[in-house]
This record gives sequence, C-alpha cells and structure tokens, in this order.
Amino acid sequence: MIYLINEEVYRLNFFMENGFVRKECKSCKRHFWTLDPDRELCGDSPCVPYYFIKNPPTRRAYNINEMREEFLSFFEKKNHKRIKRYPVIARWRDDIFFTIASIACFQPHVTSGEVPPPYNPLVISQPCIRTTDIGNVGKTGGRHLTIFEMMAHHAFSSKEKEIYWKEETVAYHHEFLTKQLGIPDDEITYIEHWWEGGGDAGPDLEGIVRGLELSTLVFMEYRKVGNTYEKLPLRIVDTGYGLERFTWISKGSSTAFEAIYGELFDKFLKKFNLEKPDEKILCEAMKYSGMVDVTDSNSLMEYKLRVSKSLGMDIVSIERIIRPFEIVMAILDHTKTIVFMLGDGLVPSNVQAGYFGRFFIRRVKRLMDMLKVYVPISELLYMQLLYWKDQFPELMEKSDYILHVAELEISRYEKTIEQGKSIISKLIKNEEIQKNASIPVEALLKLYDSHGLPPEMVKEFAESYGIKVEIPEAFDAMVSALHSSTSTKKEEDILQGIPSSLPPTELVFYSDPKLRSIKARVLYSDNNRVVLDRTIFYPEGGGQLSDIGVMIDNGREVKVLNVKKSHGIVVHFVDKPIEIGREVECFIDWQRRKILSKHHSATHILIGAARRVLGDHVWQHGAQKDVDKSRLDITHFEKINDKQLREIENLANKVIQECRPIRVYFEDRNIAEQKFGIRIYQGGVVYGRKIRIVEIEDWDVEACGGIHCSNTGEIGLIKIIRTERIQDGVERLEFVAGEQAIRYIQSQEDLLNELSKILNTPIEHIRKTTINLVEELSKSRKLIESLREKIAQSLYSNLKPEVINGFQLYYGIFDLSHEELLKLASFIIKKDNMSITIFISKIDGTVISMIGSEAMKKGINAGKIVSNFVSMFGGKGGGKQDIGQGKIPLSKIQEIDFHKIKNSINDMVIK
Ligand SMILES: [Zn+2]
Ligand SMILES: [Zn+2]
Repeated sequence: MIYLINEEVYRLNFFMENGFVRKECKSCKRHFWTLDPDRELCGDSPCVPYYFIKNPPTRRAYNINEMREEFLSFFEKKNHKRIKRYPVIARWRDDIFFTIASIACFQPHVTSGEVPPPYNPLVISQPCIRTTDIGNVGKTGGRHLTIFEMMAHHAFSSKEKEIYWKEETVAYHHEFLTKQLGIPDDEITYIEHWWEGGGDAGPDLEGIVRGLELSTLVFMEYRKVGNTYEKLPLRIVDTGYGLERFTWISKGSSTAFEAIYGELFDKFLKKFNLEKPDEKILCEAMKYSGMVDVTDSNSLMEYKLRVSKSLGMDIVSIERIIRPFEIVMAILDHTKTIVFMLGDGLVPSNVQAGYFGRFFIRRVKRLMDMLKVYVPISELLYMQLLYWKDQFPELMEKSDYILHVAELEISRYEKTIEQGKSIISKLIKNEEIQKNASIPVEALLKLYDSHGLPPEMVKEFAESYGIKVEIPEAFDAMVSALHSSTSTKKEEDILQGIPSSLPPTELVFYSDPKLRSIKARVLYSDNNRVVLDRTIFYPEGGGQLSDIGVMIDNGREVKVLNVKKSHGIVVHFVDKPIEIGREVECFIDWQRRKILSKHHSATHILIGAARRVLGDHVWQHGAQKDVDKSRLDITHFEKINDKQLREIENLANKVIQECRPIRVYFEDRNIAEQKFGIRIYQGGVVYGRKIRIVEIEDWDVEACGGIHCSNTGEIGLIKIIRTERIQDGVERLEFVAGEQAIRYIQSQEDLLNELSKILNTPIEHIRKTTINLVEELSKSRKLIESLREKIAQSLYSNLKPEVINGFQLYYGIFDLSHEELLKLASFIIKKDNMSITIFISKIDGTVISMIGSEAMKKGINAGKIVSNFVSMFGGKGGGKQDIGQGKIPLSKIQEIDFHKIKNSINDMVIK
C-alpha cells in the first residue's frame, strides 16, 4: 500500500497555484495542506479541541434543511444532477444491511464499471446508518451518530470519458466552504490520508475547520486484491460532506444535536421533564469531547479531569448534570434511526437487518428507564415524523406502520422481561457463577442476544441475590458487532475440471420458452456432466428447480437429472457420458416445467397480494418453487390471521381470473430502478448492466431469472394450504397452483368423504356428529377418572403399610396400568404424609414411587428408590425427589423379592 502513497499524489495544482503549503502536524505527525504558514497543528481532533463552539466560522447559521439545500443547489449550478435518496436498507447489496455511505448506493454495479451511473456527475444527500458507534452516541456531543446524512458529489471517469478528478474536486470543495458558506480560507486544512472500504481504495483529503472534520474527498482508483492493489476501470470521485457537521459548525452550538434537531430537542427535554444544563458547563464539556478516544478509559479519564479543571467542579457533579442530557441525545438519534428503518420497510426480528430494528427500539426503552421516565415510544417517533415530514414525506406516509410496530415491539419486550426473571434465577444457580459471585460478560451478552434481557435488568435482579454484575461501557457495541456481518453463501464449483475455454451456453429457454425439444452439440462430457452449445434446460436458480428430461444420442437415452449454471456455462448432470462432438436431441419434462412455471408466477402474484393486504413492509424473505407445492416466506411483524389469509388468496385468484399479461424483458438496470424502485430486488441481489424484468401488469414487477407463464390466467387457481411463523418477523405461506391446486382440493374432498364413511353420517352432518363425539369422549374420560379414584380408594383401604422408623412403606405388584398406579400413589401420599410408596404394574412392568410431604423433608428420595430398584432387575428408571418412575422387564416380575426392597429403603431411612 505504502508504495502508492507519496507526496505527489496530493500535490495538486490547486494547492500550488493558491499558495497552500504542506506541513507535518506537531502532534499526530500527519501531513496537511494549509494557507497559514505558521500553523503547527493539523486542526483536527484530537490534536485540537473544537473551537467553533460559540464561535461559528460561517457567514450565517443554517438549519439542517437550509444546509442540505445550500449544498445540493450549489452543485446543481456546477452541472451536477440532483438525485433522490436511496433507502437506508441496502437491498441491492448482499454484503451489508444498511446504506453506510453515499457511494454504497452505487456499489458494486456502478463502481465495477458494469453499469453506468444514473447521472454523471451527480449530487445527493443520502441518509446513512452505521451501528458500530452506538455506544458513543450522545457522549461525544455529535461526533458519533447512528444516522446521518452524507452529502456527496460523485463523478465517474473512464478511459473513454473524463468527468473530473482531484483538481476540480478540491476546487469545488474549497469554493463551497469559502465563497458559499463564508468560512475564512486560511482556516481550512486538508489532511493527507489513505482510504479503503468495500474492497476499494485510494488517496483522500480530509477537510478540517476549527477542530471538526467536515468532509472527506476520496479518489477511488484501486481495488484491493489479496495484498496488492489493482487499478479500477473507473476513477471515482467519492466525496462525503457530513450534513450534521456542516449545520453544527454554522450554528456553533455546544452540541451537534441542538443544531440538527433544533426545537425538537427542546420538546424531547420537556417530555422527559428535564432542563437543559447550564450553557457554560455544556460548552466546556463538549469543547473537549472531540479529543476523547472513547475506547480508551485513560483518554476518557483525562478528558473528565480536563473539563473538571476548567470548570472548577468535581467530576461526579459534572457527570450528574451532563449524563441525562447525553441520554436524551442518544434517544433523539435512535428514534430518528428507527423512523428511517421502519419507514423504509424494515420488519423487526431476530435476524439480519431486522435485528437492528428490534435492538434500537429496545435500546430507546432502556435509555428511558435509565432516565426513570416513561413516554410511549410512538409519541417520540411521531414527533420525529413531524420534524422530518417536509424533507421526507415518504416516511410520514408510513406513520401507521411505524408507530404500530414500535409499540408492538415494546409490549413484546415487556413480556420478555417478565419471563426473564425465571431465566436469571436459573442462571445464578450455576456453580461457576455462585463460586465467583458474578455473572461474566459472555453470559450477559447471551442473555441479551438469545433472551432479549437488558444487562441493567440482569444487574438489578442478580444483585438482589448477592451476585455482582459489571456492564461494560461498550456493551451495546458488542451486541451490535455480533450481528454486523452478512454471510454470503459459498457457491460449489460445478465447473471443476471443465475447460475454461468453453463459450457461454446459448440460453434458448429464455429466447424461446415454449420450446420442448431441440438439437444441440456436446462441447464437453465426463461421467456425469454434459455441456452443450445451447440448451432448453432451465438451470436451478431464483428458488426455481431445474428442468429434467432426456438427451437422445443416436437412439440411446441419456437421463438429465439436474441442471445448474455457473459463469454463463450450463452444466447438465446426467446418468451416463456422451462422446464430445456428438449432436444430441434434447427433450424436457414438459409437465414438470409447466407446473414449475405456474408455481413461480403464482409466487409473484402472491407477494403482490400480500403487500396489498398486509402493507408495504412485506418483502420476500425466501421462496422455493417445487413440483408438489411451493412456499413463499415474507417479512411481517405478526402472525397472519385467517381473515387476512383469505383476503390474500381471494385477491391472488382475482388476478388470475383477470388474465393479466406477464411480460418478461431485459431492461437497463438504471431505467428499471428509476421506473419501479428497489422493490424489484424481491428475489435478492442480481448482477449485470441489463437485468431481466418479470412484470405482471399493474400488479408486481421483479428482477427475476425464472421461467413464467405468459398470462396469469394460465395458472388457473392458487390455493394457500398452510401458514407458519418460521421465525420472528417471517411468515411462511405454503401454496399450490394449477393442476396441483385442483388435486389438493380433491384430496381434501376425499378426506371429507372418508370421514363421512367412518362417522356414518352425510358430509353436511360431520360437524355436528364430531361435536357430539367429542362431548361424549370428554364425559367418558371423566367417568374413567372417577372410577380410578374409586379403585385407588378401595385398594388403599386394603393395603397394610409396614412401619420402618416411623415411615409408612406401601408396596405391591398390581394388575393396574401406569395411570392407575400413579393415581393410587398420589392418593396415598395425600392421606399419609409419612408415606413411602413403591408399586409395580403386572401389565407392563412400570415402577412408580411417590413420597409423602413429611417423608420428603426427612430426605427420602423417590427417584433414588426407583433407580435402586430397577437396577436390581435390569430395568431403567429414576426421577426427582417427589416422584420416581421406571420400567423392568415383565419376565423379572416373579423374581421380585420385597425383602430386598425393604432393606434398601431401610438403609436409606437410617442414613
Ligand atoms: Zn494532528
Ligand atoms: Zn421470480
């Protein structure tokens, strides 16, 4: 890497012509460019404190909306096209959950050169979510946020077309800061830096003013491959101007939160019955907050001492004043994050992106608990929605969903906590925990992650039992880190051993999907694989199974068992080899193809129906199109009820009856995204400049590689046969379509006919007959119960216990079932609290022992009695103190010698 960085990379004409000098920071040793020849420090934290607080360098103060507009319109005037924001959930990526930077909107398709950018150059203000700094939000006055807007101008230059590069980028930046905002030019420093992210890399310059890093200007031109760097096909200007920081510096307020949230901050404070701390204390505290390395406890202490000294107050008093204020800032930040996550369609759950929705909602509740205040979370979220409604009207449109789901999550959380107490009481009985009298961090993490129990609650509860709990500062960051990585499945290498020189297979199933047979040439074959020059066999993909069929090689039939595709080559898995170079005639199993395509089109119809019935947050989580039946997994926050299910089914069948055309075509990725939105990626991430679009007229549009019907009418019928909550936040719909649906309905009818025969009643009377039967059955059960009671009673009055040391021993072998023996034993122990019972069933060899309450207090153990007993006869059994159960082979029953048993119980009693 080092060889790529040298002074020359940063020595711009812009700097030379405008009189900038290159210096080394006395404190951090980084190099920077400045117009002030006397400057010794880079100007960034931690080398200098914030000195814009109460001392803004801009011509005037801007609120956040004014600042966004100032930026966007400045670059519009410089011929950049303004584009709309992307969602905060990065559905087009399989390596990250959230949009973490503006460039993430264009990765990997645009940055790899495969797809042209929507406009070039362009300007955007992109809301971004980053969860890694969650523990620091509030504590640093605004340096850390989980949600922020990255304003950016991007230019993508290629060999063929130069847009602009370093010189213009820095010139634009400088002009915006100085001419537009009025920041004195000698106050801006540019620090030299090297940037890497998402596998891309390049040099960058950081724009610093009065202790605050405002912007990063990245010149992305390398791709990291192993330990080396390769040139990218494009040179990309990747800038990031922190909207919140620009607003903050223009206001010079003590924290960024006051600048971002303005009156909303005051409203939150009022809701929580808190006063803003003394301005002087706040300013002092925040001035140095930029210098803290929050991961380093020494640095934190140093900072506290510094603030304490400059204010002449002790640390504890300062913290008591500042801490509640810090918590409110965190709540402000998190409630905004929740509004954007849910508004962009996230469904809280325990997995993937959904996990973070749940995590943030719970964290807000916990933060309020720390403040000892309670405000319904929906109220806070609604205040956020109102505050952002002019700039982000799309969020307000989703307000019903956002408020409902957040409250639902809180009520689930409260239930979890109720159940949590028993989980913790169990845990603290653990030997290791008892020995150390403390709960380790790993256990705390597990309690939160698997059971949803917040560490504060664990602490409070465990400490009342004398078990200590230390909650690490970085607890939430540790939890968040557990969930931060997305896993990408590794593809098996189906091409192993196949020459890489083979041309891509011609995909005739796409160009002519109605073709049932074709002649093709064998380009490669081994024992179980065949590659052809062209094929009509659809390879497995997008949740659709592959076609199967046969290849006829000179009259000889070769079965095609499975088909897969990799890197443009379709591999047919066959039962015997074919000579390379032969021409074969291929036939696909047309019946199977028809069913699979009906099931696939039915999936698209169903997702459209589910979205209309349940809401826009419904997203495909997974799908499997099989022959017998298919399934569609969708995100939804609660169990789908019967009424909704019927509505979905009815709506889907209505669409079928309307015979809407299903159009399949290739479209430029940019055009498709602009026309239909990110929603087209229901089936997951797709690659390529042109993507295959499957459009059901006015109903559903998806990027999909599957084989479909050409009209919804062809499907005939959809029947949902089952729903299941496969995980929190994901509902599974199992369904059948076409002939399979008819077959299913017929089988249901067969079942009814059979029942009618068994019950000997016409179908229309089955319901009534069954109700009567169930009632009779329950009456009979009650009768049996009372008969058993009577048997037990009469047996008891005939049983003579033996007295051993004050205990009454009841024993015997009976012609009774397991249930009846239990009845007898429980009858006895209720009557006689010094009783010890042991009974054996002649019917099946069951052994039962139960102990009266006083006998138990004296340490008699039923489980041990049974295990001693069965071990004498080669049986199995054991149990707890109050009840023991076991079984011995029936053949051993004659051998039972009750003397031995009495002796063993005698031993137990005397001990
Ligand atoms: Zn420095
Ligand atoms: Zn599809």
